[in-house]
Amino acid sequence: MPFEIVESCVNCWACEPLCPNRAIVEARPHFRIVAERCTECLGDHDDPQCASICPIEGAIVDECGEPLNPPGSLTGIPMAMAMSLLEKAERAGASAGSAA
Ligand code: SF4
Ligand code: SF4
Repeated sequence: MPFEIVESCVNCWACEPLCPNRAIVEARPHFRIVAERCTECLGDHDDPQCASICPIEGAIVDECGEPLNPPGSLTGIPMAMAMSLLEKAERAGASAGSAA
């Protein structure tokens, strides 16, 4: 089943030259994968080359919409911890604002 590039793609070009099937094309607002050409790299590579190089978590998804690089997979920060840190920072910012 083909993969899909979604809106969080930042059009960085990293994946385009790696695709063995020339399935990735420049497009606006974001790059896209030509479904008929994507083989998930089966037979060419052990891993999908686009997902292996993509620097943006969640930019490439499978046929179920599941990200190949889920949140936390590239940053090393699990999503739950990231959200917790974000909430803490927001609370700290709010209390600093109310103290001023
Ligand atoms: S999974 Fe492989 S064949 Fe499919 S778009 Fe990515 S690099 Fe190309
Ligand atoms: S590597 Fe990721 S962010 Fe860059 S163009 Fe490809 S899908 Fe978009």
